[in-house]
Amino acid sequence: MKKTRIGVLGAGAMGSGIALAALYADHEVTLTDSSPEALDRAREYAVEHLSRKDLSERIQQLNISQDIGALSGSEVVIEAAFEKLELKQELFAQLDRISPAPAILATNTSTLSVTAIAAMTSSPERVAGMHFFNPAPVMRLVEIAKGASTSQDTVETLVQLAESMGKTPVVTGDSPGFIVNRVARPFYGEALRLLGERVAGYEEIDLLIEAAGFPMGPFELMDLIGLDVNLAAATTMYESTYGEPRYRPHWLQRQMVESGTLGRKSGAGFYEYDGGEKRGTPPKAPETSQESGYVLVSDGSWAPELGKLLGQAGYTMSETHGDLPLAAVVVNGREEGVRDVVRRYDRGLAPNIPILCQTVDVDLSEVGQGTYHPERIVGFDGLFLAAGNAATLVQGPDLADEIRLTTTDLISSFGKQPVWVEESPGMVTPRIVCCLANEAAFAVGEGVAGPTEVDIAMELGVNYPTGPLAWAEQLGYERVAAVLDHMARVYGEERYRVAPWLRKMARQKESRAV
Ligand code: NAD
Repeated sequence: MKKTRIGVLGAGAMGSGIALAALYADHEVTLTDSSPEALDRAREYAVEHLSRKDLSERIQQLNISQDIGALSGSEVVIEAAFEKLELKQELFAQLDRISPAPAILATNTSTLSVTAIAAMTSSPERVAGMHFFNPAPVMRLVEIAKGASTSQDTVETLVQLAESMGKTPVVTGDSPGFIVNRVARPFYGEALRLLGERVAGYEEIDLLIEAAGFPMGPFELMDLIGLDVNLAAATTMYESTYGEPRYRPHWLQRQMVESGTLGRKSGAGFYEYDGGEKRGTPPKAPETSQESGYVLVSDGSWAPELGKLLGQAGYTMSETHGDLPLAAVVVNGREEGVRDVVRRYDRGLAPNIPILCQTVDVDLSEVGQGTYHPERIVGFDGLFLAAGNAATLVQGPDLADEIRLTTTDLISSFGKQPVWVEESPGMVTPRIVCCLANEAAFAVGEGVAGPTEVDIAMELGVNYPTGPLAWAEQLGYERVAAVLDHMARVYGEERYRVAPWLRKMARQKESRAV
């Protein structure tokens, strides 16, 4: 793309970053802000970062002004003022006069309606969302959001502009939260619910989520984003969808915001911070006990990597027990089958042998029903057993101390830290990942973007290790649907209803397997 005259309105965190990204790409930039301090900071920031890249002379291409009228010669204006609809509408009404067609007007809004902002102009076809991520010079994703009247030419120009800045543009519809801020909601919302339901502590949830490959657990990330900012995003999503239950904010977060516990910036959130550094003790590395022996494994596919892990830890898998010295029994099937298998083993084996049962889509208490020795039954998350250095174990109310110790030893011998949690449908990681996949499926079904675009957006916008739909593909759409159905059954909430697009994918896969 040729050198373009870009106007940036608002020189805060985002505006100054967008201006720098545009200078890196050799565009001409006019940056305006009503605050002279913000403009000074933005200039210093540009000087420092340009010099680090040996591009100091590019500062000549940055024109700074407190007067919004300075944007009159811009070919594209990107607005990055406060996230307030009335303010943005007022600014776009002004921009409509200052920068007439064919100039393009873009807003960096994260959650507001592009259509509502564009409606204040005489030519809404030249208005679109151009949503950068923080820090804008570094993050590769840019969501280009099409308002109800946005023209294809406007979209194409913004796509080219984003590409000229070395970004990966993804075109989305103008629905609340676009892709990233929408699909990411369960990452925070389900984590808060797990904490609120006392299934596990925030450190344990973070540990398990990091073990699944996420760069940061949900609670550490909320602390970084700011609990107030995160709550505001959740609230906007909830309100702008007229109360969609999947987006309902959590009272725990509101309570923390009300008490001024905002995260890193206030010195304390879920964690405490010392000069911006997180305080706390790193989790202990598991001690590997060089146990070996036989593990009886029932057939089933809800713990796909189990055999490999057992082999690495020196165990031999067996399908029949006979007189073998058994270390444990692992039941990794699903639904009714699981209960029958558990009962059969419970009747045939000495009571000191733990029975580990996958409980991602079944309840541990249901599994234990009708057994003589419910004290030896432990739940585990088979789907994410192989991921990272932690494993989720569920304790039932009757669990014997001896069984807890033996199980801890067994899991530690895999080189994994056992994380004991309370019984809860979908457990921790499957619950969060399946809800992310479900949200992604709703977005695809509603035409916000295609599956590939949604996955790219989540990988580049929030650094997820895998796009949620690629994850659903790996786990199996039918398993993701089964986990959500189980949650819907237990909670009785519409929040966990399966997205029609996901259900369709699950059925297609099942019918292909038959
Ligand atoms: P910020 O508070 O850091 O900066 C906003 C700037 O706008 C301030 O410098 C302020 O002086 C200026 N401003 C406000 N009203 C103005 C007016 N009438 N005329 C001129 N300047 C005015 O905010 P931010 O974090 O940079 O966010 C800006 C926008 O980008 C918001 O819409 C936000 O939702 C969106 N966004 C933020 C992030 C993020 O992580 N911070 C990420 C993506 C998008």
